[in-house]
Amino acid sequence: MSIHFISDLHLHEDRPLITEAFFSFLQRHFIDATPAPNEPRQLYILGDLFDAWIGDDDDSALAQTTLDKLRETSNTNTELFFMAGNRDFLAGSDFASHTGCTLLDDPTVITLAGKEVLLMHGDTLCTEDHDYQKFRNVVRSREWQQEVLGKSLAERRALAQALRNDSQQANAEKDNAIMDVNAAEVVRSMEQYGVQTLIHGHTHRPACHDLTVNGQPAQRIVLGDWDQWGWHITLCNQQPTLQRFSLDAR
Ligand code: MN
Repeated sequence: MSIHFISDLHLHEDRPLITEAFFSFLQRHFIDATPAPNEPRQLYILGDLFDAWIGDDDDSALAQTTLDKLRETSNTNTELFFMAGNRDFLAGSDFASHTGCTLLDDPTVITLAGKEVLLMHGDTLCTEDHDYQKFRNVVRSREWQQEVLGKSLAERRALAQALRNDSQQANAEKDNAIMDVNAAEVVRSMEQYGVQTLIHGHTHRPACHDLTVNGQPAQRIVLGDWDQWGWHITLCNQQPTLQRFSLDAR
């Protein structure tokens, strides 16, 4: 069984080592791996693969090489799933057809090793960050997206840079707790979807949290951002398990 979950790689021209680490990850887990017959091979990307995705017509080298590498991966009998994060929500149907990724709604429930698991990027759980939630409503609206996609690539690159600067400045002034998930919202979401396991990223706080949902033991597993380490969740003894690895792993 080769099922992996990743998020928050924040691929960017300025961090070529992260891109290299991602390509090696695809190479060793999927492209070069020899699967047992009928073994499922799946990669779930749960948002912020890119530090910024300015539209499927992005002609940058980073966009093109990453799209091609994802296509190479899907061509080797791997199912790719992509859920957008707050940095790459402009990924659309051309992105999906170029890479072979299936686009997932946020949230999505899947069955993993016989159990229902809720997948989210994680930003919608940060309900105490009212300014961010307001911003999210704007940029996820069709009107805003159509207007932005009507701009030139150069204008969109400048806009992405401006938004990144704004968010860094705003986050520097925010209390740390505000930028984490809200505990009640986590339980509410898990009860709404009737699951005992939640996998998400976004907060850059990799951990496995035990909690109680529907009066039963439950788990919230948080992916890490790729920076000092790479992070993924994979099945160990049928249990989704958070693992970190060295970025120069081959
Ligand atoms: Mn995020």
